Amino acid sequence: MTGGIGTGGDIVVVGGSVAAVTAADALRQHGHEGSITVVSEERHAPYVRPPLSKGMLKGTETPESVFISPLRADVDFRTGSRAVGLDRGRRRVLLDGGEELPYDGLVVASGARARRLRPYDPQAGDAGELVVRDLDDAVRLRAIFAEAASLIVVGGGFLGMEIASTARGLGLDVTVVDQDPPLVRQFGAFLAEHMTRAALDEGVRLVRAPGGVELPGDGRPTAVRTSEGELLEADVVVSAVGDLPNVEWLADAGLGGPAGLLVDERCRVAPGIVAAGDVVARVSERTGRPRRSPHWGSAIAQARSAAMALLMGDEAPAYRPSPYYWTEQWGLDIKVCGEIMPGSTLNILTGSLEARSALIQWTRDGAPVAAATVNHRTPLAKLRKIATTP
Ligand SMILES: Cc1cc2nc3c(=O)[nH]c(=O)nc-3n(C[C@H](O)[C@H](O)[C@H](O)COP(=O)(O)OP(=O)(O)OC[C@H]3O[C@@H](n4cnc5c(N)ncnc54)[C@H](O)[C@@H]3O)c2cc1C
Repeated sequence: MTGGIGTGGDIVVVGGSVAAVTAADALRQHGHEGSITVVSEERHAPYVRPPLSKGMLKGTETPESVFISPLRADVDFRTGSRAVGLDRGRRRVLLDGGEELPYDGLVVASGARARRLRPYDPQAGDAGELVVRDLDDAVRLRAIFAEAASLIVVGGGFLGMEIASTARGLGLDVTVVDQDPPLVRQFGAFLAEHMTRAALDEGVRLVRAPGGVELPGDGRPTAVRTSEGELLEADVVVSAVGDLPNVEWLADAGLGGPAGLLVDERCRVAPGIVAAGDVVARVSERTGRPRRSPHWGSAIAQARSAAMALLMGDEAPAYRPSPYYWTEQWGLDIKVCGEIMPGSTLNILTGSLEARSALIQWTRDGAPVAAATVNHRTPLAKLRKIATTP
């Protein structure tokens, strides 16, 4: 693209979570001496999101235990401040209070928000629909679970199944509704089926609604209507139907779209602008289509890469995706490296799924594409190697 901005100048980071914090840290590590201002719309200091659907709902984590270590003193961190626009010509980030922040370099780390089933206006609030995306959502849901006997989770992906597992562990009567069989997209048919069996063994009810669902009524939902006309009722209904990249504030600047904010191989968006984390879309080498990788490890790796590219431009090393994610549900702790591609073959290298402990490799056309542990202690470096080495 071009050279970087060097180690002087003013940098603005928009976002208040792991990508923003990691980028600010990496900028200093790589010698940036100018100002760094991080603008976050949240009222909280940065915190870790993965425990929100696990320990926070269970009660083994508290709001205090999920905070990320404090940001460096030489970074100006502003909470409760929302970026509402970008003036690329004048190099200004426009804030909701009317303030304009000038920048020489911009890091976009505005992440993603929960997709909702009902129409959603961020200014008007969520109209009662429950999701788990931020700390306040998790604290609220934990209190609601304490008073509830039954739960419907809409969505059988990672998040939905984690919420279902945690709620079942708390003794709630749990139903999961999805258009597709749970977790197949994430884990492939074989492992997904094993996970589904584990859920059924715990007494969870699974309902297929191929045509989708709606949440009837107003206020906090207590029912789900499937397109087949079935009405399911529970004390609590939680939507876990995916996420949407926070790109709207960039629209007038001609950046971003429904798929996310497209970056090049160094996490660059445009001269002087880089991006990292859940907001980012990259063109997949496999499919040629833009794709997000909304996982904790990707946010960290992209933030480091983006920081270097902002300072050094073409001299910075290219970002090399090395997907890694994990989930905990039904007593199964699963860690995955690589991409479980459609049509790949699963090989159990050690243990067995029946014994609830295994080391697994997926291959496609004879070449490894992914590896996973199920309740199995394998160092991450070794797992990565198994995911890539024949
Ligand atoms: C409940 C839950 C469980 C998860 N579990 C796992 C897991 O087990 N393993 C895993 O790998 N990943 C997991 N993830 C995903 C992981 O947490 C995300 O990939 C990671 O948080 C992405 O970080 P980010 O900084 O890119 O974005 P986000 O965490 O989405 O943060 C974006 C921040 O930017 C702020 N912001 C947005 N727009 C603006 C604006 N216009 N102005 C100012 N600030 C703005 C937001 O308020 C937010 O603080 C989980 C996510 C959730 C929600």
